[in-house]
Formats: sequence, structure tokens, C-alpha cells
Amino acid sequence: MHFSKTYKNKTLYNLLVFMEQQINAFNNVLELIGNTPLIKLNHITKNIKGNFYAKVESFNPGHSTKDRIALYIIEEAERKGILKPGDTIIETTSGNTGFSIAMVSIIKGYECILAVSSKSSKDKIDMLRSMGAKVYVCPAHVSADDPRSYYQVAKRIHEEMSGSVYINQYFNQLNIDAHYKTTGPEIWKQTNGNITHFVACSGTGGTISGTAKYLKEQNPKIRVLGIDAYGSVLKKYHETREFDSDEIYPYRIEGLGKNLIPTATDFDVIDKFIKVKDEESAHKAREISKTEGLFVGYTSGAAMQGIEQLAEEGEFDENSNVIVIFPDHGSRYMSKVYSDDWMRSQGFFDSKNIEEAQKIEY
Ligand code: PMP
Repeated sequence: MHFSKTYKNKTLYNLLVFMEQQINAFNNVLELIGNTPLIKLNHITKNIKGNFYAKVESFNPGHSTKDRIALYIIEEAERKGILKPGDTIIETTSGNTGFSIAMVSIIKGYECILAVSSKSSKDKIDMLRSMGAKVYVCPAHVSADDPRSYYQVAKRIHEEMSGSVYINQYFNQLNIDAHYKTTGPEIWKQTNGNITHFVACSGTGGTISGTAKYLKEQNPKIRVLGIDAYGSVLKKYHETREFDSDEIYPYRIEGLGKNLIPTATDFDVIDKFIKVKDEESAHKAREISKTEGLFVGYTSGAAMQGIEQLAEEGEFDENSNVIVIFPDHGSRYMSKVYSDDWMRSQGFFDSKNIEEAQKIEY
């Protein structure tokens, strides 16, 4: 050792040798879940009053906020003694939650079974299988109570398999708790309490509900603003506490809004919902990538679109410190929002010809 001659004290010498031999590494990928950065938005918000910061959840190892709930729900089951090595985790999703559960299952030694709809793209199914998940593809055009539906298939596998856990993210209180324990405290600490507004997309509602509950316990004045999709029932339910099926129609944004009322949404901690459209949200996601250098998913575009609409309603002023969740990474949308062919097929370039669209001033 190069310092051997200078250090006569043997204990100190041994300590220094030990330190020099240490390798600074994480033990596995799960140690990287959470503690995602807040990044100031400098361009996309230039015409809006206030200061805007994105909590960029694609910095999680599974590239989305769903890593948090996968890890939390599985570790809660372990704490309660429900899971032992070799047991099975079950969920109905081809999206981010499926990927996160598959990743956690690999590290912790569980089987992962995902029941997905036949509407899911081949890319998504291949991705989940690449992460070791067993994927059951179930017919898309049957009702939720049909025994062939992915809900019923997942439920049946869970009931028949002892030592299995059904994540059931739309109806699981632990989905809220995961964000109450992690996302909320992280934001409070990162802002030193200097936060006036919290904005998040609502799907299961876990992110907005858990985070808002924690933040409002610290400062009840923080405004909590939920983003919903046209075609979803959440905003109307928030305003009337009634389920209105007339609100429901197909839309393109994945992960945002719902055609049922999830119990993982605590409507009481949300001050206001705003609805956004497919086309504007898609353009906004592309604009975030091009102006901020942040390659974000479709719902990040939806969240920014919502912020723009809220600003038009006078929600923010010069003193506003607004934190918005960017839930996932753009790479999951290469054949959608980031494909000009897809954008064209949806009519999202209709108002401009393609050459003009390529030149849009973002
Ligand atoms: N964005 C994306 C891409 C998602 O997958 C989800 C989850 N459905 C959300 C936003 C909404 O998060 P939450 O389910 O916690 O409301």
C-alpha cells in the first residue's frame, strides 16, 4: 500500500487498507428504487407564471413510478409472512406495473404471473416475458365478469394458488401507502416545504392520493390538482360523488383516467381535477422531450397539458412552486407518441401537413 510507510498505527493502517478495498456498489437494482430527482422545467413553462419542477420517475430502475408500489406491496406481504421464496405474484397489467413486479420478483425469487388483454402490443408482452414473467393473454372483448377476462383469470389463479399475492393495484390501500411513505416525504424534503401546488395524473389514484395525504399533513394549504382524461369518470365522480357511465368513451392515453371508481383513489385529498385530450397531450410529451431534453411518456405530456389549462384558469401566480409528477420514460412509446406514422394515423397531424409538423416550433 502506498501509505504503509507513513502510517505506523496498525489499526489506522488496517482501516485504510479496508477502505481502499471497498467497492462502491449497490447490492442489487432494487436499492435504486425511489429518491428520484426534482428537475426544474425551464422552457416548456416559459409562458406560465410560477416555478415548475418535475419529479422524474423514469429515474427508477424500472423506468416508472410503479417500481415504488411493486416493492412496497411485495415487502408488506413478506413482513406479514404471506410470501416465501418461490411463491407467486399476480397482477392484471401489461403496463408499467407489470414490468416493475417482474423486476422485483426476479431479485426476490418469486414467480410473476401477469394476465393481460389481447389488445396489448406484442412488444409489451415480449418485454414482460424477457423479464421472466409468465404472461396469460386473455380476450379483450369480453366483459370484466366473464371467466375468460383478464380480471377473472388473475383472480382464479390467485384463489387456486396458496402463497400467492394479487397486487390488485386499483383496489389496494397499500398502493396509496407506498406513495405516502416514499413520494410524499421525498418531495417535502426536496422542496424544504416550499411547495404550493402538487400536480399528478390519476389512474389507480395511488400516486396522487398517497403523496397528497402526506403533503397536506405537513401543510394543508398545498393545492392538489389531478389530471384526468376525456373519456374517464374520475373528474365527474370527484365533483358529484356519482358514477356517470355517460362520461365513458375510448381514448388513447394509457395509464390515465378510468372507467370505474378505484378504491386506491382518496378523492377527499384532491382539490380539483382537470381533463385533457389525447392529441394535445401527445404533442406536449414531444415538446417536453425537445425543449427540456427529458424523454418522457405520454402521461407526462398529459400532466403538462393539464398545467397549461390550469394556468389559463388562473391557478398559478409568480410565487407558485409547482411540483408535477412525470410518471415514466418515453422509450415505452416509440410506436405511439414518438412515431410520426402513429401520430398521423390518429389524425394528430391533420391540421398541419407532415413537413410542417416536423418543423413545429417546440
Ligand atoms: N402514468 C402512467 C404512464 C401510468 O402507468 C400510471 C398508472 N396507471 C399513471 C400515470 C397514474 O398513476 P396512478 O395509477 O398512481 O394514479
